[in-house]
Amino acid sequence: MGGLLHPGSPGRAASRGRPDGRLLVAEIFGPTFQGEGPSAGRLAAFVRLSRCQLACGWCDTPYTWDRTRYDLQAESRRMSEAEVWHAVKAIGAGLVVITGGEPLLQQDRLVWLADMCRAAGRRTEIETNGAVVPSRAIAGAIRRFNVSLKLANSGMPAPRRLRPEAIRALASTGKAAWKFVVTSPADLDEITELQQRYGLDPVWVMPEGTTSDQILRRMHELADPVLARGWNLTPRLHTLLWEDARGR
Ligand code: SF4
Repeated sequence: MGGLLHPGSPGRAASRGRPDGRLLVAEIFGPTFQGEGPSAGRLAAFVRLSRCQLACGWCDTPYTWDRTRYDLQAESRRMSEAEVWHAVKAIGAGLVVITGGEPLLQQDRLVWLADMCRAAGRRTEIETNGAVVPSRAIAGAIRRFNVSLKLANSGMPAPRRLRPEAIRALASTGKAAWKFVVTSPADLDEITELQQRYGLDPVWVMPEGTTSDQILRRMHELADPVLARGWNLTPRLHTLLWEDARGR
């Protein structure tokens, strides 16, 4: 991600709020395809923020939070909002995906960036674990939250991964799509229970896996049970195409 343009004029959208913070960024990459969920297949730029408050057993981005295995100082850098915007703009994709880690841990510093994207005709989506209450400002600035509530298969205790106030706040924005990482069809009853408890819609089911073989095998296992429940099924397109290559 070297060779970033020096921040220039912030332009018209700057009137919505001045960039005044620095984001802790793991990586910015693209153009590539959004691999998961309702926008799978769309040309996208990715901003991956560092740090997460959870520690899922199958996490595929542990370099954003796992101090026991990674040097987080080396794996992240502080960037101004304007630097991030210029990097995103240079990628030139219509969809900007802000992911992590858990990006809502830095949500106050994302509003200006999302406003800039919107003013430039870019669609912005935030991928969140659903355990942080979004502010009104960030909810107003983006097009969709892709909310990946964690199931028991994550290894996280329920009180840490399921925060009712955050789930209700995300649902109330009317901008949430609910994407669940599933390791076997046995996980689907847990999703049904959450869907009924919180009125989650739409539901997307995604197979867990970091190889194309795992993704395809699990999609075959899940297809019929997911259809029977009237839900959506998403691949991990980047895994099917590039296995676990970072920055794709
Ligand atoms: S919430 Fe996401 S980034 Fe955080 S540990 Fe779980 S899978 Fe990884």
